[in-house]
Amino acid sequence: MKYFSTRNTKLAFSFREAVLAGLAPDGGLFLPQNIPQVAERLSPSSSLVEIGNAIAQAFVEDEIPQHSREEIVQKTLSFPLPLVSLSKNISMLELFHGPTFAFKDFGARFLAGVLGYFSEGEQEPCTVLVATSGDTGGAVAQGFFGVAGTQVLLLYPKGRVSPLQEKQMTTLGGNVRACAIEGSFDDCQRLVKEAFLDKELLQRVRLSSANSINIARLLPQCFYHAFASQKLFSPDKKLIMVVPSGNYGNLCASVLARRMGFPLHAFLAASNANDIVPHYLATGDFSPRTSRRTLSNAMDVGHPSNFERLAALYDQDYTKMSAEIMGISISDEETTRQIKECFAETKRILDPHTAVGLAAIGHALEHEGTQACSDALFCLLATAHPAKFREALQGILPEEVPLPAELLALEEKATQYISLRAKIEDVKEMLLA
Ligand SMILES: *Cc1c(COP(=O)(O)O)cnc(C)c1O
Repeated sequence: MKYFSTRNTKLAFSFREAVLAGLAPDGGLFLPQNIPQVAERLSPSSSLVEIGNAIAQAFVEDEIPQHSREEIVQKTLSFPLPLVSLSKNISMLELFHGPTFAFKDFGARFLAGVLGYFSEGEQEPCTVLVATSGDTGGAVAQGFFGVAGTQVLLLYPKGRVSPLQEKQMTTLGGNVRACAIEGSFDDCQRLVKEAFLDKELLQRVRLSSANSINIARLLPQCFYHAFASQKLFSPDKKLIMVVPSGNYGNLCASVLARRMGFPLHAFLAASNANDIVPHYLATGDFSPRTSRRTLSNAMDVGHPSNFERLAALYDQDYTKMSAEIMGISISDEETTRQIKECFAETKRILDPHTAVGLAAIGHALEHEGTQACSDALFCLLATAHPAKFREALQGILPEEVPLPAELLALEEKATQYISLRAKIEDVKEMLLA
C-alpha cells in the first residue's frame, strides 16, 4: 500500500516512510492511495483480533512480515472491549480498559509495536515527539516505555491536564521524558509541527510523531469501529457511530472503516464548546480559533489536526461530508446535566467526554425527530474511564468516583517533568540534549 499527502496526491510513500515521518514533507497528512474492501474478506462473526489482522494486512502488507504484524495486533488488543446496551437503540463501546483508561491506548500500542519493529537494527534511536491535551501522553508513555530503539518526548499544557493524566506521563522515566509547556494544547501542537519542519533538527535527530496525525495510530482505531459495526449489524437498522471528538482522528478512523465496507451508515461528531467542526458541518465555514477550556479537556482543540484528512476523504466536498456526518456541540452545562441524569437513572458514571456523546444523541433525536431516527441504532464511543476525570466529576455527582487499583498506585509515585516556554528553541534544546 502506498500513501499520499493530503497536499499532494501525486507523491507516494511506503507505510514505513509515512509512519516514520508522521507528517508529510509538505506539511500534509498521509492517507492510503486506495481503501481495500476488507469487510468482504471477513465473516460477520469475526473476532476483534481477526478484524485487526485483516485491516493491518490490507494497509501494512509485507512491510512488516505476517508473524510480526500479527504479534503487534495481538499486543495492541490485549485488553477487554465491552459493548454494552444503554437502551433499545443506544449501545456503548467501552474503549477505556487499556493501561491508561482511555481509547488512545489502541493507537499508542500499535504505533509503539510498529516503530519498535522499524527501529530494529538502527544505530540512532527513534525519538517520538508528542503534543498532548492529556490522554495521548499517558498512552504513548505506557505504549513506548521500555521499547528498544525508541525515545519519547511529551509536550503537554502546564496546569491544563488532570493530576492523574500528569502522573501517567511523568512517573515512568527511562526512555520517556515529559515537558510542561507554558501555553495551551494548540501551542504544544504548533511546536510539534514546527519541529517537523526544522531541517537542522531532522538532520540530527530521527524524529517521529505519535500524534493522531500518524497513520499508525489511525489504523488500529479502525479495528474497533469495524468490530462494533459487525456486532451491532441488523439489516433493518442504520448504525450511527457517535464519536466524542477533539482532533477528529477517531472520526477519521470510523470513516475509513466505512470505506472498507463495514456496515456503518453515518456519523455523529460530538464536540464540546470547541465547535469548529459542527460549525463547519452546519455552514461550510471552517474557522479554527483558540481553544476554550471545558470539562472534557481532551477535546479542547481549536484547530483540529485531522480535519485536513477528513476533508481529503470527502474530496474537499462540503456537501458530501455533511451528508454523512452530523455535528453537534454540547455545552458544559448540558454535559453536567447528562452526567447527573445518567447517574440518577442507571447509577452509571460517565466521564465528561462520553457524556458529550450521549448528550449529542439526545440532541439528534430531538432535532431529527424520533420518527426519522426510528430505524437508527446509535453506537456511542466511551472514550475514557470516569475515574480518569474524577476531579471534573466532583461536585457533579453525589459521591466520589472510585479509583481502580492501577490508578490508586499511581497517586503514590513521584512526578518528574521539565517546564518549557512555548518556543521552538526550548524544544529544540531538549531534543538535541
Ligand atoms: C483524545 C480524546 C478524545 C478526542 O479524540 P480525537 O480523535 O482527537 O477526536 C475524546 N475523548 C477522550 C477521552 C480523549 O482522550
